[in-house]
Amino acid sequence: MAAGRSVDAAARLRAAGLRSTGQRRAVLEALSRLGHATVDELAAEVQASMPEVSLSTVYRTLEALDAVGLVTHTHLHHGAPTYHSVDDEPHLHLVCQACGAVASESVEVALDLATAVRRASGFRVDLTHLALHGRCASCAPAIPDDPLAPPLHTSEAPAAGSLPAPPTLTEA
Ligand SMILES: [Zn+2]
Ligand SMILES: [Zn+2]
Ligand SMILES: [Zn+2]
Repeated sequence: MAAGRSVDAAARLRAAGLRSTGQRRAVLEALSRLGHATVDELAAEVQASMPEVSLSTVYRTLEALDAVGLVTHTHLHHGAPTYHSVDDEPHLHLVCQACGAVASESVEVALDLATAVRRASGFRVDLTHLALHGRCASCAPAIPDDPLAPPLHTSEAPAAGSLPAPPTLTEA
């Protein structure tokens, strides 16, 4: 949703106590255009107009911006973080382990979880940092025998010796 929206990067940097350098503005604006991006993707975007900016500069710039809350990040895959613009609504990240699709979901759906954790231990969950891994709606029905997949429907256990024919799963 942030794509194409112009951000007053200079004002944001100053408000966060950072000097407004061309590199910092370029990184903020690139992330605002891309929405979600790894350090490599952001470096490529910035270097399209500022080829002198190195990958390590983009890396250090993102860490500085993250430290003051001007960008945030999640971990969609093992290893490198994926940064996301703070222009977007706070969201969870849903990563399909079968097809690789990444979707966003409002943090509202996980507020019960966050509240339960906080009541139990006082711990405050950063929901926007969370990436939930599983099967997207398209991939889940294709692998009905996956022992790790939760059942799509709950039904009463059949009595021994009277196993019914397996139900036909139909998508609504
Ligand atoms: Zn992290
Ligand atoms: Zn995100
Ligand atoms: Zn999928």
